[in-house]
Amino acid sequence: MNKSEQSSTEKQLKAANSIQRLKHFLWTAHVFWLTLIVALTGWHIWHDLAEIDRLVNREANIRLQTANHVRKWIVGFGGVYAPVSDVHKPNPYIPESVGRDVETLDGRQLTIANSIAALNSIMGKENRVVGAFIRFTGDDPLKPGNEPDEWESMALDKLRAGKKTVAGYTEFEGRSYYRMLQPLALKPKCYKCHSYSQYKVGDIVGGLGVHVDMVVYSDARLGIIRTHMISYFVMWLIGTLGILFTGKRWRHFLQRNDELQQQLQDLAIHDPLTGFLNRHQADLIFDNELARAKRNKSYLSILIADIDNFKNINDTYGHLAGDKVLEVISSELGNKLRESDYMIRYGGDELMFILTDSTHAESIKKAELIRSMISEHTVKLDENTSTHITLSIGAASYPEHGSTIKELIKAADVALYKAKEGGRNQVSSAEDASGSQSMNLDP
Ligand code: GH3
Ligand code: MG
Repeated sequence: MNKSEQSSTEKQLKAANSIQRLKHFLWTAHVFWLTLIVALTGWHIWHDLAEIDRLVNREANIRLQTANHVRKWIVGFGGVYAPVSDVHKPNPYIPESVGRDVETLDGRQLTIANSIAALNSIMGKENRVVGAFIRFTGDDPLKPGNEPDEWESMALDKLRAGKKTVAGYTEFEGRSYYRMLQPLALKPKCYKCHSYSQYKVGDIVGGLGVHVDMVVYSDARLGIIRTHMISYFVMWLIGTLGILFTGKRWRHFLQRNDELQQQLQDLAIHDPLTGFLNRHQADLIFDNELARAKRNKSYLSILIADIDNFKNINDTYGHLAGDKVLEVISSELGNKLRESDYMIRYGGDELMFILTDSTHAESIKKAELIRSMISEHTVKLDENTSTHITLSIGAASYPEHGSTIKELIKAADVALYKAKEGGRNQVSSAEDASGSQSMNLDP
């Protein structure tokens, strides 16, 4: 891999790195977005279900308070009279002597209904009002069927332990209800019916409970869950598409940016006409390569090539033709000497080659190769015009001709001057510059 291929690979790696970082960022954004959506969905559902619970509890409370109020109202009168019917018969536990049954002046039969019987008639299971009913329960009920079920037994225990109200979701006769139970304490009036009871006044003998049917609320709960899931899923989808779209645009932008940066970098280090490295790069490369040669105790050679009589080309064919000659020469050298170390446009028509790990003898060989290649090449200026170009080249090497950049360039420059002096189209070594003849290997 030559130097320019290496630098282009580095650039590609850099670009791949920023794309990788973008991918990582997009994944993080997506995971964050998903987590946020899941958390918001959970919180919103939890919040609204808690609101439903609050409403259910409120309904149960209102219904229970209403029932209690009516019960107390009836208890205040020691019961109410109602017409005798199939569902409302004289209470066998109330002695007739206390005025249990009466007959109105118009002959209708009335019998006393205590608070429990009256409330059961109004709001009991058989006469339930929409969505709820009340139920009396007790350890020792007069009415069969009023024995406490499992939940009520547990609730009565809690009431006896001091709780004012016990509530919870539970099944009753195969349906889901929210149930709330409040205590009923034995009062002296209760002995009217519960005269056989082993309880004393003040004991909690049972409870008054309300059953709120959960059908409506269950539908509301499902509705809430479904609505929130759908809404947040749509929100997640829009956000995810947004992230993907932004990521795509961003990726495109990064790639474009990398390309532009690469172009800028190329412009900054290359000569636009020849595509060779510019003179500024020569100094940097020299610094590095000379230091490396010294460190590794190896060699470093430089060639300075100058086009012979280039002014004549400009004068004869015009400046643009001169440019074309520079382009053709550099492209020819670039193609043929692809593996050569560094090619630099050093000045107007001066080209420099920095050859790493190259002995002086090798550098002279390479210089001769360059010279002969260009001298044999026909430069086509347009359809009808072509010309020939020759190069004069000066070669100097580390360590023979200097140990600093300045010394080496000067030595190569002097050698070049000698090549020009010697008749052009020839290679001159720095050794030759100090006295011996230039080499023109052309026949
Ligand atoms: P010599 O053999 O002594 O080198 O003769 P020469 O005519 O080549 O003289 P010299 O190298 O001193 O002159 C270089 C000329 O190259 C001067 C300038 O007009 C021309 N030149 C320098 N840069 C460019 C360029 O980018 N394009 C063109 N067309 N000509 C250039
Ligand atoms: Mg010249």
